Amino acid sequence: MKLKSIEISGFKSFADKTEIKFQNGITGIVGPNGSGKSNITEAIRWVMGEQSAKSLRGGKMPDVIFSGTETRKPLARASVTAIFDNTDHFLKSEFSEVMISRKLYRNGESQYQINRNDCRLRDILNLFIDTGLGKESFSIISQGRVESIFSSKPEDRRAIIEEVAGVLEYKQNKIKAENELGKTSEYLKRVNDLINELD
Ligand code: ATP
Repeated sequence: MKLKSIEISGFKSFADKTEIKFQNGITGIVGPNGSGKSNITEAIRWVMGEQSAKSLRGGKMPDVIFSGTETRKPLARASVTAIFDNTDHFLKSEFSEVMISRKLYRNGESQYQINRNDCRLRDILNLFIDTGLGKESFSIISQGRVESIFSSKPEDRRAIIEEVAGVLEYKQNKIKAENELGKTSEYLKRVNDLINELD
């Protein structure tokens, strides 16, 4: 699996539609301070489902939409599309090329797509769960992240290791099953109460 390209439009400093194609090997992005290098990695994290505006250096999510300059009006929508080569089917998808898209409008309305079909945020997150590409993984390390990993609480550090080790999916399924069990016990209690009343 490999990130083939990313298309950014109206996201942060990328007012115009900008396509970046990643070739084989290592890609380095160079540019003066403030030219938008970090915005590219943030666009990648955003399209993969990042939900924390703070971790994208904003106050609220619509802050990622191009906010205008002296010569240009703000835009109403941010849109990012990423295309992955999935010929090895590393991502849980039957397709050998997986395209994910995310759009956000100023009114807060958002849209997620996988291979041009509307989907839920959960579907995008599920695509990357336990691949080591999740938002808590080491695959994207932003500025200041190394220090924050070392100074984080042991349980937060454990969550990072669990994501990389691929056990997060099982843990989430366990929590879901435990919640269901809890609900079922409640129902059983209620049924027993009713039976007792009838007796
Ligand atoms: P450095 O080398 O200093 O880390 P960089 O190349 O990584 O810089 P970024 O941090 O990616 O640069 O980009 C910062 C620029 O993005 C700033 O000029 C900022 O004004 C601009 N920017 C951030 N959010 C928006 C937005 N919503 N609309 C327009 N421009 C934005």
